[in-house]
Amino acid sequence: MNKEILISATDLKKYFPVHKFMSGKQYVKAVDGVSLEINKGETFGLVGESGCGKSTLERTLIRMYDITDGKVTYKGKDITNEKAKNLQWMKDEVQIIFQDPYSALNPFWNVREIINEPLKKAGMEEKEAEERIEYLLNKVGMSKAQRIGIARALSVNPEFIVCDEPIAALDVSIQAQVVNMLEDLQNEFGLTYLFAAHDLSMVRYISTRIGVMYLGTLVEVAESNELYTNPMHPYTKALLSAIPIVDPLKAREHKRIQLKGELPSPMNIPEGCRFVTRCPYATEACKNGVPKLQEISKGHSVACHRAKEIL
Ligand code: SF4
Repeated sequence: MNKEILISATDLKKYFPVHKFMSGKQYVKAVDGVSLEINKGETFGLVGESGCGKSTLERTLIRMYDITDGKVTYKGKDITNEKAKNLQWMKDEVQIIFQDPYSALNPFWNVREIINEPLKKAGMEEKEAEERIEYLLNKVGMSKAQRIGIARALSVNPEFIVCDEPIAALDVSIQAQVVNMLEDLQNEFGLTYLFAAHDLSMVRYISTRIGVMYLGTLVEVAESNELYTNPMHPYTKALLSAIPIVDPLKAREHKRIQLKGELPSPMNIPEGCRFVTRCPYATEACKNGVPKLQEISKGHSVACHRAKEIL
């Protein structure tokens, strides 16, 4: 089956300028050379520690932020430098579900008003909007704020939904319910998701493919099962080793890879491989040149000078 690309980024960069006393203007390189393609109908999982640039990447991809460099296309159209007024057509098609549903919802509005707001903006008749709100609330249930956020995102019949760590603030039992609900909605409405999370445990079940992000760039991309069974990048291996093992016998044999130190500042990115300061496999050679994301096996790409040696 031919895959249809819905949204793509080529060498995408988003830098934020900061002014420092004495040292003048510097840049936070929040997204620093990301290339990816998200196919229509798939869920692309995006994983990485807090502060690795996931949220900035999401917002830059859908042009909530201006682009510093690189290119973004949506449905084959170059939207890199389009002015906001020329992107109105995209606004209903692309929605975002935020990490903290409470902060994204207006506390002075009731549930119906919150869901009705985007419908009003889209010019929907009152009666039609009422029916749609009723349908959506039945569809997602209305007991939790996150569900209201999802119903709101769905209200204008979107095609692409950015899920910005939508389960991070939820109890584990609710996380599974939300993931199941998102899958049902995807099947019913033919949705495409970009689903960000800071750990790999739940992303596996919803994602078609997964991209692992480190310090503003993608270090590994593979189909979900392939990434879990055959991780190649040392950072992915470390993230996977941190997932708790339920079986006590397996847990005893399991070795957790401890990373050295903290995530470096995106204002002070290490020379060469940006994972070099924390990588257990690092050699002096890793400081020479930035490793490019390269396809090692079909559909499985990794950015590591030593990927083939450490497999
Ligand atoms: Fe580790 Fe070197 Fe590979 Fe970077 S290039 S991930 S430092 S082994």
